This record gives sequence, structure tokens and C-alpha cells, in this order.
Amino acid sequence: MAKRMPAGAAHGKKTARAASAADESPQKLRHRVRRIVQLLNQAYPGATCALHHRNPYELLVATILSAQCTDERVNMVTPELFRRFPDAQAMASAPREELERMIQSTGFYRAKAKNIQECCRQLVERHQGQVPPDMDALVALPGIGRKTANVVLGTAYGLPTGIVVDTHVARIAKRLGLTRQNDPNKIEQDLMALVPRQSWIDFSHQLIHHGRRICKARRPLCDQCPLEEVCPKVGVAAAPAQKTSPSASRKRSGTDPRA
Ligand code: SF4
Repeated sequence: MAKRMPAGAAHGKKTARAASAADESPQKLRHRVRRIVQLLNQAYPGATCALHHRNPYELLVATILSAQCTDERVNMVTPELFRRFPDAQAMASAPREELERMIQSTGFYRAKAKNIQECCRQLVERHQGQVPPDMDALVALPGIGRKTANVVLGTAYGLPTGIVVDTHVARIAKRLGLTRQNDPNKIEQDLMALVPRQSWIDFSHQLIHHGRRICKARRPLCDQCPLEEVCPKVGVAAAPAQKTSPSASRKRSGTDPRA
């Protein structure tokens, strides 16, 4: 296990680690990825999709609603939504204004209502109202990209067709030095080439959990991170030295008469 560096050496550590990630041999990279997968399995053994659902139809609709919205907010909306429109047939023929009203709090509700209904109409017309367990068929549906298709195929059908690349996965993959790409599809290709296929589904969920809890966008909690030993922290700025107030300094040195 790599030793933690003193706080004052943080910037040097970052630079050295970023350089070592760039110079890493394919063999070392694969070895590191195996260790990342192992550490993620230890840290997040039960990680799964946070969107509440009972079947592939509900997960598909919930995933569309989750764009630019928290899973918690979506989970507040979907119980009533699925009670009112329990399948693709019912959703396809839902009154648009009523649907928009029900999903309004998830944001972008007009576009989402349109996408959901057009998608459900095609499920009815082409797939007997069922969500097809097939990547090509899913991405042919209106408003469905690889990310949504991977969520549905991995979580609802247990099919490792790819790796879900959302904002968390994209950010952490870069910090871990597993990709230099910005385009989600290219990031996914890089990850698929490195991560063993049997880990694809869990890997996505685990990185999403990790991004919410530890590897946050603005201030990653590297000192609490289970991946710290294998992370080059690419692009992570060194934490600024904490300013010490005179009173705190006096307290630490025992010179504060009020302490
Ligand atoms: S929190 Fe820090 S150490 Fe952990 S994965 Fe993110 S950048 Fe790497």
C-alpha cells in the first residue's frame, strides 16, 4: 500500500502521480484496474441503482426522468406516476397535460413527457409494450442513448452490455487516469477495454456511489477515499493550506488564556 504523503507535499504528489499515470505501461494499468475493482467491491458491496422500480418499464421511465434531476426527487414522483400509468400502453395514451403536471418537479418536464410518451408508443407498436432486452433496439427508441440503455439492460435484465457513463463515472474515470476522453461514448469504450466484463454492471453503480459520497466534483475527499492508494488524482487540485487563525494557534499552543 502506498504511504500517505505529508500534507505539505500534496502538490508534488499530485504532479508525480499524474505523470506516472501518463507513463504507465498497459500491464501496470491493467493491474491497477484489477485493484480498483477489488477495492470498489470491498467499499460498495451492495451498490445498485438508486431509482425505485419494479420492472424494466418503470426503470426506463425513471431513468428518463433522472436527467438533470436527483434520484431522490424522481423517487418522490414515480409511485403516483406508475400507479396512474402502470405500463407502456397506459403511458402512451396518457393525457399530456396530466403527465407534465405529475413530473413537473423533475425539471425539463415538457421534453421529458414528450420523450416518455414517444418512447412508450414505440414500445407498444414495435415490442408488444415490453422493454426489449437489446442494446440496438433500445437506442433506436426516441430519447434513449447508451447511458439509459445500459442502466436498463444492466439493472433490470442483468446484461453487461456496457458501462453507464454519467457525470460521476466520467469525472472519476479521468481522475483515476483510466481515460482522457470527454465524450461519454469514448469514455465508455476506454473503460470497457480495461474493466473485466463481469464487473461492468457493479463498476458503474459503485463509481456513481463513490462520486456522490467521496469523489465529489468540487472537493473530493481523498483522505477518506478507499481508492487513494491506486489513484493518480489526475486534474485534482491540491487542497489549499488551511489558514490558521491567531486564536486557534493560541489554543493549540496552550497560550490562549480563554482555553
Ligand atoms: S477521492 Fe481522490 S483519491 Fe479518491 S478517486 Fe477521487 S481523486 Fe482519487
